[in-house]
Order: sequence, then C-alpha cells, then structure tokens
Amino acid sequence: MNYREFSEKIKIKFLTLQVTKYCNMRCRYCYLPDRNIRSIMQKEILSNFIASAMKESLFEESLTVSWHAGEPLAVPLMHLSGLIECFKELEDAGIKVYHSVQTNATLLNQKIIDFLKKYSFRIGVSIDGPCEINDYSRLFVNGKSSYESTLRGINMLKINSIPFHVISVVSKRSLEQPELIYEFFESNGFRHVSLNCEEPEGIHDKSSLKEKTFFDFVVFYAKLFNIAETRNHSVIFREFYKLLFPSIRKKSIPAYIIPGVYIALGSEGKISSFTPEMLDNEHPKYGPLALGQISTGATIRSQVIENEKVKSMFSDVLKGIKKCKFECKYYESCGGGFPTDKLNCNGTFNSSETFVCRFSIQAPFKVLDNTAPMVIENAKVAYKKYPFISQSFHD
Ligand code: SF4
Repeated sequence: MNYREFSEKIKIKFLTLQVTKYCNMRCRYCYLPDRNIRSIMQKEILSNFIASAMKESLFEESLTVSWHAGEPLAVPLMHLSGLIECFKELEDAGIKVYHSVQTNATLLNQKIIDFLKKYSFRIGVSIDGPCEINDYSRLFVNGKSSYESTLRGINMLKINSIPFHVISVVSKRSLEQPELIYEFFESNGFRHVSLNCEEPEGIHDKSSLKEKTFFDFVVFYAKLFNIAETRNHSVIFREFYKLLFPSIRKKSIPAYIIPGVYIALGSEGKISSFTPEMLDNEHPKYGPLALGQISTGATIRSQVIENEKVKSMFSDVLKGIKKCKFECKYYESCGGGFPTDKLNCNGTFNSSETFVCRFSIQAPFKVLDNTAPMVIENAKVAYKKYPFISQSFHD
C-alpha cells in the first residue's frame, strides 16, 4: 500500500486544544516559549477546524479532546463555554466527544467545577510532590509557592466527588526521595499517578536529571515498587501499569505515530500532528513543526496528512520504530516510543533510545523483570481493581 492509499483511511481520534499559551505559573521545566502571551483561541478557529474536518470526513464515531498546553482554566469561563459549544455539531452528527483537561488546579472555583462536571471532563492535576519538591519547580509568575493553591483546588475536586489523576514531573529532588513522594501521593489519596521525567525540551534545555544515571532511575522505581508492594499498591503508577498490561503493539503501527490521528490545534490556529510541542518549534530538516494554519482555505488533510513534509516526517518516524525493533529488548513492551520524544532528545525521529524512554520504559521494566513472578501477580491483581484510564497523549 502506498502512502496515499494508507493516508486516505486516516481519521482524527485525538485533538489537543491549546486554548491559551498563557499560564499563571512559571514551572522551571516548562517547554513553552510564550507563557506570557494572553491570547486565547477564538471560537471561529475551533468552529472552522471542526467544520473543515467534518466536511472532509475526518472524524469517526468518537473524538477525545484534551484541553492542555498553557493553563486552560486561565481562560474566562464564559469563553470556555463558548468554545465547548462548538463540539455540539459533532455530537449532533452522532460523534461521541470525550473531554479531558490538564490543569495546575490553582484557579479552580465552584463555577469552573460545575462546568467540568457538566461536560464530564476527565481531570489531570499537575503536582510534583510535597511542598519542598513541588516548589523546587512549580512556582507562580511572581515566584511564590503554588503548593497550597494546588492542594486547595484538589480539595475542591474531592469535595465535589470528582475523580482525577495526577501527573508528577520527576526532577532530581523527587528521584532522590521516592519514599517521600510515595507517602505524599498516598496520604493525599492520589490513586493514579503518571510520572513524567524532567526532559530537556523546548526552551528548557537542561534537565536537573542530566547527571543521573540509568542505575539511579532503576533504584528510584525499585524503591517505589517495594513501598507499593508493602502498601497493597495504594498508588497505581502509569509506568508500571503500562508494563504489567502491555497492549500488543508489535503487530500494528501505533495510532499515535500516524500523521493526523493525533492533532494539536494552537490558540492562534496553527495545526500540527502528534503533540502540542510541535506547534511552536522549528527543526533544521523540517523547518516549522507546525504543519498548517486554520482559516487559510487549505484542507486539513492537505496540511497535516497529505504533503511532502508530513510524508518525510512519517518516513523518519517509521525508520526510528524500525531501529527500536532491531536494537531494543524492550520493544515489545514499548512499541517504539513517542516520535516527539525522539525529536526532542535526539534531534531526529529516525532514532531509537531517548532520555525519556530510559526513564519511563527501560528502568521500570528492569525492576519488574527482576521481581518474583508471585509478586508481579499480586501487583496485577491490585492494579486491575483500579484501571488506569488514558487522559491525554502523554498518558
Ligand atoms: S524503550 Fe526506547 S529504545 Fe526501546 S523500543 Fe522503546 S523507545 Fe525504542
């Protein structure tokens, strides 16, 4: 099958909406270059995108929308309400739309909570650990601690009985203190936790983990797993979950590497494939990584699926996956990693191992590989009780 025949079957399954680039925080590791810019996505941009994709038959029976990149809840509620109305057209056409939001939770109030409830948002909260760990990286624009404000927001979610999961970025501080972060997650009742490593990305080009070795990563996960084992897995970690219940990826191409399946729509109407990191960065080979612009009159298909630049990117992504397949003993559990991680860490899609995959796949794999089968079976039983529901691309 040639690319054209292949690409004709592509449908959008996942849309990341960057409703604003602005954020009320200045996390030390953030990749976004324009966090001060208060521009917000105008309704016409989203409605044009939806109308165009409908006309081009790019949707199928469901669409997951992730409100992400910048702090989405910094956008006035009335404006968010206007944006979400745009999806009515899809729902009227019988397409089920699932919404999720990734937030620092500091701006939550009852009106926003009622909005999130009304549209059944799945909620991910970003917090890195207890105050001394969280405040190492996550401060407000004025340099003040965000810790209490985030906990206040989390408390509001709990009072309203809204389930949420936590994304925690692991910096050198948390890597050195797994006991402390486990205790924090457990004592706050965080059942589902995703651990993202602090990677060099975008404007954040030096990770605090850069001096840490693979062995340090393994020790970190071994300690976390051991503590969890003694606490009947009171906290479910995405990194172990993915490995305990691997999807069979080796037979097919993972959907997230196919151009157009995962789309990011920027606040000013830029569109790209894969993840929102692509919207504002450039690359020596490809030029701007944003692939197009809504409202130019060009079809979405011609901008993000069927053109020479996208074909060249996809070809490099496939070569990178092939390298993974031949070089890496973790391939069957991993499936070849995320293209944007490869671009960030290695400068090319056509590559295999990354800083990120050593942390999030290889190290936890090594821990489970060296764990007695009976202990693994116990973990599976505990994990099955609380399945990890995917919330966003990086989940
Ligand atoms: S663990 Fe890394 S090197 Fe191995 S398959 Fe995954 S992305 Fe490729």
